[in-house]
Amino acid sequence: MIRRIASPAIVLAAFAISFLFSPYQLTLANFIGLASIVVLGLVLLTGIGGLTSFGQAAFVGMGAYTTAWLTTRFGLSPWLTIFAAMAVTALGAWLIGMLTLGLSGHYLPLSTMAWGLSLFFLVGNITALGGHDGMSGLPHISVFGAPLEGRSFTWLIWVFVGIAFISVKNLLDSRNGRAIRSLRGKTVMLEAFGVDTARLKTLIFVHAAVLAAISGWLYAHLLQFVNPTPFGLGAGIEYLFMAVIGGAASLWGAILGASILILIRDTVQDVIPGLLGSAGAAENIVFGVMMILILQFASGGISPFIARFLPRAAPRAVPDDALALDVREKPEPGRPVMVADGLTKRFGGLTAVNAMTFELDAGQILGVIGPNGAGKSTLFNLLTGVLKPNEGTLTVCGKRVENAPQSAFCELGVVRTFQHVQLRNDMSVLESVAVGAHRRGRDGALKALFRLDRREEAALLANAKRQIERVGLAGHLHVPAGNLALGQQRIVEIARALAADPAILLLDEPAAGLRYKEKQQLHGLLSNLRDEGMTILIVEHDMDFVMNLVDRLVVVNFGEKIAEGLPAEIQQNEKVQQAYLGVEE
Ligand code: ADP
Ligand code: MG
Repeated sequence: MIRRIASPAIVLAAFAISFLFSPYQLTLANFIGLASIVVLGLVLLTGIGGLTSFGQAAFVGMGAYTTAWLTTRFGLSPWLTIFAAMAVTALGAWLIGMLTLGLSGHYLPLSTMAWGLSLFFLVGNITALGGHDGMSGLPHISVFGAPLEGRSFTWLIWVFVGIAFISVKNLLDSRNGRAIRSLRGKTVMLEAFGVDTARLKTLIFVHAAVLAAISGWLYAHLLQFVNPTPFGLGAGIEYLFMAVIGGAASLWGAILGASILILIRDTVQDVIPGLLGSAGAAENIVFGVMMILILQFASGGISPFIARFLPRAAPRAVPDDALALDVREKPEPGRPVMVADGLTKRFGGLTAVNAMTFELDAGQILGVIGPNGAGKSTLFNLLTGVLKPNEGTLTVCGKRVENAPQSAFCELGVVRTFQHVQLRNDMSVLESVAVGAHRRGRDGALKALFRLDRREEAALLANAKRQIERVGLAGHLHVPAGNLALGQQRIVEIARALAADPAILLLDEPAAGLRYKEKQQLHGLLSNLRDEGMTILIVEHDMDFVMNLVDRLVVVNFGEKIAEGLPAEIQQNEKVQQAYLGVEE
């Protein structure tokens, strides 16, 4: 309740207080607002999406220059040029994104510096854009013929802060938003559930750039003048500072970080030159020291400390009567759903999987066991489309898929869990499981921005809740996944896979690292799923775990199938005992 009225109350209070502001304080509020809009984009891009950009100032510049050029040369109204500024910047960001977003590690941040610098020098050398002297004489922004000046321009800026805030919040609170929140380090998992991660990265990159462009549009008409200086690399670094100081994963942190940095700069510029006797960019020394301290002692920024004193939001109830999601037509029991024929995978001279042949029928549980290094994980990757075989064929539900992209596997209902659990610790069980149903939703980011995706959202969440109840974790719906024990996390992964409406459920060493009790629970769950008619393939090292669970066993060693049959037969098989049990212990 307190949370619900908090935001409108803050907005009203800020509006009332703004009447008391001196012109000087209004100027500070303007610059805080302008920066907040950019930093909100950075929170989405860097803090949540994990893509570090030093180049946001260049997008601010694109927005500012677009409107400067169109309003002064062609006399267009700023209310038209805002759309041009957004479109030009979106296109620019899309092109830059195509070239750079595939870069990994430190190369992406480095490339953002490169284009941050090059756009700066480019604009400085184009005479049509005024070169280093810039362009002046931009018109006022008017509403019903009245130019916005002073206090009313501050309001305009903060209306856009609000729009930026809501746009990012709505995007994050959606089907794509859940995937965006998992982008950092979880792309293999996302791809396995049919998420196009390259597209998502482009989406948040363009969104952040468009917000920057809006800030640039406002800035240009506030000053009625543009030149390249405020859009250089230095400004880009400062925006990133603001995001980190405020708390790079928090939307309120964006406004907090912008406020802190701008207020400190303002103070320092007044005070330090008096102390040092020189007027150099003293604030940069202070920012540098602050940055080091924050990274050292509070890498989450300042907002988590403040959040501790605020009431926690109550989890939203999950609606039950939601619209139904598409359900896959299940293969008839007994029909082959996955057929591997001669699958071979070589790593250089090493043949990790050699001429693997087996058949999995609908409604069966097939176990693939073997000692460490036998080639189980490699086989698993071949069966899920992560690796492509050198030879052999793989058929799923009658379709040849050995060379198909990973998304095709998800489309056909080949759904997996991970040996090393792939959950985001800070995401609730409910949302983690809902990621599994990504492919079953249709509504895109644009619908999400205007919250037109609510019906489908309700359906996705209701489905996730059903799967969580199905695996027996109903009591943990809103608990962060990271708070659960490993055994429960594995079960959450199974629920996430079930949320995708699988034709085949593939489990990669589900019992690895579990305690005895946890193994029993997992065993019980898998038996139940088999009784429901689920088709399952388990790759497992632990022989006891699979013995009275699976219908059939395939034993591999050194990449080759050395035995196949009923569990009881395998237990008696001498070759298996030698190869497998001999290696173990
Ligand atoms: P398991 O999962 O049964 O323990 P793996 O499939 O992980 O076995 O490995 C089978 C063999 O292939 C091992 O000898 C391993 O070192 C090798 N191997 C696995 N992945 C790679 C890779 N990406 N590059 C080179 N060798 C690999
Ligand atoms: Mg393995």
